[in-house]
Amino acid sequence: MISTTLLKALNDQINFEFASAYAYLAMSAYFEDENLPGFAQWMRAQAKEEVEHAMRLYDFVNDRGGGVKLPAIAEPKSSYDSPIEVVAGALEHEKKVTKSIHDLYALAVKENDYATQTHLHWFIDEQVEEEKTMGDVLARLQLAGNNTSALIMVDQHLSARAAE
Ligand code: MG
Repeated sequence: MISTTLLKALNDQINFEFASAYAYLAMSAYFEDENLPGFAQWMRAQAKEEVEHAMRLYDFVNDRGGGVKLPAIAEPKSSYDSPIEVVAGALEHEKKVTKSIHDLYALAVKENDYATQTHLHWFIDEQVEEEKTMGDVLARLQLAGNNTSALIMVDQHLSARAAE
């Protein structure tokens, strides 16, 4: 059985992953409005991944005896001044998720919950990938600066990647 404290933390993480999906979907909608279909597709794929993260934890809690609680998901930020603001925001968001996963892991260690520790290994690795992806796109946007042609090239690059 999972302790009450750890169960609460796991449920909070499930909520955080769903909130991440919602945040990225709002970012995708922003890119749709800005006529940047590659960015929109990319963010939509990120949103789908976040739902998968939430469901991995959801299944884990159920497999360990249950107790899933699904509180409300806060409304995500939906207006942005520029693509770079969106991607910088997504990177900051992923850093918060990484910290949350690390805190969760530390709690599982403190409570000697080995099954939760093992389950979280996948998430720890995944966060390295998530931060790298967001950081790479942010770096490209920084290179593009105010050059619209360069922005469109980044958009096309993301579109091609989504089609792979
Ligand atoms: Mg996630």
